[in-house]
Amino acid sequence: MISIIGAGPSGNYLAYLLAKEGKEVEVYEEHDVIGRPIQCTGIVTKAFSEIIELQSDFVENITSRAEVTSPEGKSFVFPLRDNIVVCRHKFDSHLAKMAAKAGAKYYLKSRFLKHREKDSKIEFDVNINGEVVKKVTDVLVGADGPHSRVAKSAGLLIGRRYLNALQVKAKYKMDKEMFKVQFHRDYFGWVVPENEEVARIGITGFRKPKEYFDDFMKQFIKEEDILEFQSGLVPVYDPKNKIKKGNVYLLGDAAALTKASTHGGIIQGLIAAEELKKAIIEGKDYQKLVRKRLGKDLCLHLFLRETMESFSDRDVEYLVKLTGQDKIKKILSNFDRDYPTRFLLRIFMIEPRYFYFTKNLNIKALGSFIKGVL
Ligand SMILES: Cc1cc2nc3c(=O)[nH]c(=O)nc-3n(C[C@H](O)[C@H](O)[C@H](O)COP(=O)(O)OP(=O)(O)OC[C@H]3O[C@@H](n4cnc5c(N)ncnc54)[C@H](O)[C@@H]3O)c2cc1C
Repeated sequence: MISIIGAGPSGNYLAYLLAKEGKEVEVYEEHDVIGRPIQCTGIVTKAFSEIIELQSDFVENITSRAEVTSPEGKSFVFPLRDNIVVCRHKFDSHLAKMAAKAGAKYYLKSRFLKHREKDSKIEFDVNINGEVVKKVTDVLVGADGPHSRVAKSAGLLIGRRYLNALQVKAKYKMDKEMFKVQFHRDYFGWVVPENEEVARIGITGFRKPKEYFDDFMKQFIKEEDILEFQSGLVPVYDPKNKIKKGNVYLLGDAAALTKASTHGGIIQGLIAAEELKKAIIEGKDYQKLVRKRLGKDLCLHLFLRETMESFSDRDVEYLVKLTGQDKIKKILSNFDRDYPTRFLLRIFMIEPRYFYFTKNLNIKALGSFIKGVL
């Protein structure tokens, strides 16, 4: 028996992959509806469609350009490989339906509390509809998001760092094929069109997120345009995190497998689910598999973020200016931001002025990067 805690994209996709192989799978979700409340923008690169077949029931929009704005308000438009905007409620439900069809059993309104080892099995407590029930399993997977109770119960939620992601869904008229991003020393902001009339507007703040969020929103909408608040936490990836202990595994945000520079984690959770399936079925080392498939890119995202933390406003301005050149745009339009190891070196080779930023190199971050990728 494999018990998965959390019916987000990572947990549902793993449930589907394992059930398809004939494994007995149970999924426990604390909410009564899958994919709600929504705490996500749902924008993913084209790499997503190489993992999941796109379906009109969860794809809300497809964008092909990004407008990047500097702190001084200079804008550049980048053509991109398609960026897909999904509705998280519909996408999570779609994956859960696939998993249930393959044989996985779902328990909603079922909150995992804690676990213990018992006679070479794992016993855990779940609050199902207000009643605490004891369950027994062979494998326990924590796919229960940033504040994973499974990670906490296994003693694996140590030294984690989090960022606040503040977002609203609001009435806002815009070109539905182009999303906007704004780079700032202290935050990363976005406006992502759901359609021509409605957008998801948010920031991830490194410092004073609420103040920056209020200022950022005012550039686009008024208070009365807000339809829904959709904020949440983003865990920061750290190569030192342990994501397995005995037969307890962590997946997705519970394992902090997110990009530290742009803060997405949907694709990384899905990829880790594929690796966890292999680890469970073929008895392979999960930590090593994840490190091999995702480690270098996640470490590079972390290194970039830590380097940018010491940028002045002028540095950010210069970075956006260099990146806005046609020769750089041409490279970026052929790659997905999930995999910076595939294009960063090329960019440095054709524009040596990027070496200016070596003055911002954080030796500690460089050390962690080298350790993380070796
Ligand atoms: C505002 C915001 C915007 C974002 N935008 C993007 C984006 O555009 N693109 C992108 O790729 N990523 C984005 N992210 C990150 C993305 O949302 C996560 O990386 C992704 O949701 C991780 O999926 P998951 O399945 O690992 O965890 P989650 O989606 O967090 O799912 C965890 C599930 O576990 C359940 N759960 C939690 N605790 C328990 C418990 N004790 N018992 C039972 N069930 C439990 C929860 O209810 C939830 O259903 C954003 C995050 C935020 C906060």
